[in-house]
Amino acid sequence: MALIPDSVEATRLLLMERSRPGRRGSTLPALDVPAAPLPEKRFLRRELPLPEVSEGELVRYFTHLSHLNYAVDTGFYPLGSCTMKYNPKWHDEAASLPGFSQLHPRQDALQAQGALRLIWELQQMLGEIAGLPGCSTALAAGAQAELAGMLIARAYHRARGDGGRRRTVLVPDSAHGTNPASAAMAGFQVVTVRSNAHGDMDLEALRSALSPQVAGMMLTMPTTLGLFDAHVQEVCRIVHQAGALVYGDGANLNAILGRARYGDLGFDMVHLNLHKTFSTPHGGGGPGAGVLCVSQELAPLLPAPVVARYEGGSRPLFEAVTPPQSIGRLHGFFGNFGILVRAYCYIRSLGEAGLLQVSANAVLNANYLRVRLRSAYRLAYDRPCMHEAVFSATEQKARGVRALDIAKRLIDYGFYPPTIYFPLIVDEALMIEPTESESKETLDSFIAALLAIDRESKESPATVRDAPRRAPVRRLDETTAARRPVLRWSPAREH
Ligand SMILES: *Cc1c(COP(=O)(O)O)cnc(C)c1O
Repeated sequence: MALIPDSVEATRLLLMERSRPGRRGSTLPALDVPAAPLPEKRFLRRELPLPEVSEGELVRYFTHLSHLNYAVDTGFYPLGSCTMKYNPKWHDEAASLPGFSQLHPRQDALQAQGALRLIWELQQMLGEIAGLPGCSTALAAGAQAELAGMLIARAYHRARGDGGRRRTVLVPDSAHGTNPASAAMAGFQVVTVRSNAHGDMDLEALRSALSPQVAGMMLTMPTTLGLFDAHVQEVCRIVHQAGALVYGDGANLNAILGRARYGDLGFDMVHLNLHKTFSTPHGGGGPGAGVLCVSQELAPLLPAPVVARYEGGSRPLFEAVTPPQSIGRLHGFFGNFGILVRAYCYIRSLGEAGLLQVSANAVLNANYLRVRLRSAYRLAYDRPCMHEAVFSATEQKARGVRALDIAKRLIDYGFYPPTIYFPLIVDEALMIEPTESESKETLDSFIAALLAIDRESKESPATVRDAPRRAPVRRLDETTAARRPVLRWSPAREH
């Protein structure tokens, strides 16, 4: 089990409850300067309720708290669509090298050639991986890259004198939720295109949705169903015939890394989530990095800055430039630079053969789960999947156990729950993404837990509905937990 009940009890003792008058957690050296007078009385608060604890108590308190934090470093994290893979520690070390971490963003370009070169090489490598050579790294997340892509689509049509009438963006119902949101933020009207019975795009529905009013289509590929649409080239061709652009959501790149390139498939733009595919611990709300890759034709519109390389002198010079028709800046400087360093390390250390192994193992692991679990959990679409498998807990629901209950019960078995109720088009969805970095033994114990929960749903459904029992907190009001999080102790609050 991930949580030992004793440690849970110990943490329930809040720091204030450990406090005893006069206990100290610090020793200060004797005063060797004249004592300065205290501030005016009215600035001094006598009643400030600071805990008085020894250093040992303080260390135990925070160490216990840190153990409550589930992480990729403590266990399996099968959160579908999030690609919670293991991230090699030396990438963090590389990102903390003083030459990178202490560099001021306004440093003169001549004094920052190493960092600029790293960004330039990363642009080249990601452009090659995406099959779309223009790259901007200065975006904080996938969703922000989507917004940039939609602003590019708007600028592209406007430059062709078509901007006024192309006001619609098509989004399949198997898209990630950020896709329609980004199109709407960029001022487009969103029209949904439905999937067919196999989970692929319905080409007839696509044809009838297209018109001279359509500016583009946003296509999550592989889809949020964990499927690769074999008609994707045909889809791109049909959309292009209508004069519209195809934007790819490449956050699921883990499935096709090194095997298929968005540019070759017919996409005009794609974003890659460095914090998913290319290392970087995320999930705790830490910074991310979306990179937008576009065709040669769209490169002049990219958000600023991009790094250019000039030949001529004794050695090449790297410099930040603003593309000629840039849509502007969406993020300060070059984005979250430390994450660019980690992605660079990831790609350079794995090389081409290693990147191919990533997608091979990611897909193999997901299909292993799919086949081992399908006798107990209904598959949303019963066909080979890509890097994640989407199940539908409708049979368990008929026994009174919902996807939410299964997810909570997995916590008792020591696992982070998978994504649930997404994608929206799957009833009682359980979306499981094992990633390539998990061993067969880990997958087997996860499978055993899910099979045990299925048995419980038959024999003692109340046990599943009552979960989690072994976590420090039981079921939360998830809406207020997200909207009004309680992040610190305060004296007035009841516990
Ligand atoms: C994670 C994800 C996004 C959004 O990326 P963020 O970096 O969280 O903004 C978009 N599409 C898909 C398919 C994703 O998995």
